[in-house]
Amino acid sequence: MNILIENLSKRFGKFEVLDNINLEIKTNSLVALVGSSGSGKSTLLRIIAGLETATEGKIWLAGQNSDALSIQQRGIGFVFQNYALFGHMTIAENIAFGLTLRNFPNPRVETRVRQLLHLIQLEEFAKSYPAQLSGGQRQRVALARALATEPKVLLLDEPFGALDTKVRKELRIWLRTLHERLGITTLFVTHDHREAAEVAHEIIVFEKGRVKQAGKPKQMISYLKKK
Ligand code: ADP
Ligand code: MG
Repeated sequence: MNILIENLSKRFGKFEVLDNINLEIKTNSLVALVGSSGSGKSTLLRIIAGLETATEGKIWLAGQNSDALSIQQRGIGFVFQNYALFGHMTIAENIAFGLTLRNFPNPRVETRVRQLLHLIQLEEFAKSYPAQLSGGQRQRVALARALATEPKVLLLDEPFGALDTKVRKELRIWLRTLHERLGITTLFVTHDHREAAEVAHEIIVFEKGRVKQAGKPKQMISYLKKK
């Protein structure tokens, strides 16, 4: 799904968190959003998802004005920063959460959960609890959970933030493979420039609520190295 962001601004009181953002996230692309802490990355994701409203400007989702769409109608899967699974639910129940919430019939939920467990290669953990999984495995479950309702867009807010270097590297490769298989429009936030260059087709750099730079990783490498 194509995302078009037009003259988007967000203020909290007098504080301008997002200052006239204009961006296009093309259908099926894998885009990284980088920028220092406080530059407005999470706020932009939350506005796209409909969890927060903009002060000015518009977002078009597949050509539709997002103002007219509820959170559910937007068809967006979200993995939050510091994302936590429900500790008292099994892996299968965690993945099924969004479907159960929408009253999907049981057989459909079971089929979908099985597909997703296969996708994240954690079939044998269906009945395990989050505490029994490694950090990297838990993030794969968080992604499966976001994918359960078959969203057309995936928003990932520093999804690998809390993990060590080796696991992050594995997850990067895994995210790329997943993206190739599903072809879902993905916007992910990371403060790691190398991660952005390795995973994304396009990188957007935010600074103080503005788009500072945007381009293909190859065009951006020298810029990012200077940072
Ligand atoms: P990033 O994800 O790039 O670190 P955020 O979008 O989380 O940045 O936040 C950008 C700025 O907006 C920060 O200074 C933050 O304190 C402020 N901010 C975010 N949400 C709110 C809010 N609900 N009320 C007031 N200020 C906020
Ligand atoms: Mg953030």
